[in-house]
Amino acid sequence: MSNQWTDANLRYRLTMALRKVYFMFPLRQAVLEKVRTSFPKIKLDGTPAMRKGKQMMTHHHECENCGRTKLSTGKIFVDHIDPVVPLGTPTSELGWSEYVERLFCSMDNLWAICDICHDHKTTLENDIRKQWRYYKKGTQSEQPPTKVGKDFANFKPRYEVKPKVPKNK
Ligand SMILES: [Zn+2]
Repeated sequence: MSNQWTDANLRYRLTMALRKVYFMFPLRQAVLEKVRTSFPKIKLDGTPAMRKGKQMMTHHHECENCGRTKLSTGKIFVDHIDPVVPLGTPTSELGWSEYVERLFCSMDNLWAICDICHDHKTTLENDIRKQWRYYKKGTQSEQPPTKVGKDFANFKPRYEVKPKVPKNK
């Protein structure tokens, strides 16, 4: 049957569904709250922006790694310091109960970082995962790191993130 789901397909769908639940996770909200600064919204002409007689508010979120401030919550990520899927473990080998436990972790393992830091950390983690696959296949003798944590800037010399080349318009 052509419409049957493969194991990988099912796993992907379940992961996406769990990530949606994580989005509403109270501790995730608490981490965002911690880095949020609210201030009154002002219109371009300098008068206060009101809605239904109430002063409207706007928010800043400060990255816990680099200190950049982001206006939109879309540019700030509540990241798992130690990733949900450990770096040396293939996704398919992590059991669901462990996955859920690691996704809905305590606040110590969560921090709010900006899109730039998040991109950098994710690239680094994916790179290390790739090295783990080579290591397990036996084509690489050196054991890759197991953790990135909050020190991902220290990985720079070995895993330099290439600057994005702007596309010619
Ligand atoms: Zn940042």
